[in-house]
Amino acid sequence: MNKGERIKKEIPSGTKEWADYNVNCINGCFYNCKYCYAKFMAIRFGRKNHKNWSIMEINEKAVRKIYRLRNGRFMFPTTHDIFPFEPFLSACLKTLENILMKGNEVLITTKPSLFVIKKICHEFSKYKQQIQFRFTIGSINNNLLRFWEPKAPSYSERKDSLIFTYKNGFKNSISSEPLLDFDPRPLINDLYHYITESFWLGIINYIPAKNVHIEECRFYDNARELKKKENLMKILQWTKNYNKIRYKDSIKKRLKLNQF
Ligand code: SF4
Repeated sequence: MNKGERIKKEIPSGTKEWADYNVNCINGCFYNCKYCYAKFMAIRFGRKNHKNWSIMEINEKAVRKIYRLRNGRFMFPTTHDIFPFEPFLSACLKTLENILMKGNEVLITTKPSLFVIKKICHEFSKYKQQIQFRFTIGSINNNLLRFWEPKAPSYSERKDSLIFTYKNGFKNSISSEPLLDFDPRPLINDLYHYITESFWLGIINYIPAKNVHIEECRFYDNARELKKKENLMKILQWTKNYNKIRYKDSIKKRLKLNQF
């Protein structure tokens, strides 16, 4: 086995790095992020196309399913988000309840809407010990967030959601995957105090190459630049003394490092 193969074997990738089971209850995603890998896969396998990815359908079978107690953590959702409007909010809350009620642990991954987070904290307070929130925040710059994640909540709403969970005694963490800032320190410093668990850094996995408008090119070029090894080495250097920082498989594999 060569070194590359060994690293590939040793580093779990994607959602497996964080959880043992994935659950989703909606097909498509209203937030329509430009880098969305779930969208890329759905289009590739003919389940959706570019035009209808953000038109959502509830998977009723997934909403009705009761999850028995499993040995390992669940992650919910992974191919959509939890939206502050119906009927999608109720579908997500029901699914979440069906995972939690048998005692399972859940990592709730979301670009958080404060309304949604308050509702989850209120309705599932008795399951507090089984829940960890993981909020995706890849930049402190709202213009960048608006370009990449056009319909997702603003930076300040995501930060307020983090603070809300912190003040209400829930476990929380951040995913900056994909990281959109060349220097993540302003983002880390702004949020670090309110994190109970970990702050993950990762790089973009999917950059659109087709149907790209000329004025969008600079964003995609910057994303390609940020992935370069010399920039990632700088990020490692800058962040090595923050003890809650973790590096995603996307960074570890790119730098051929298997231990931090
Ligand atoms: S919120 Fe997640 S699933 Fe939805 S479009 Fe963005 S990256 Fe894709």
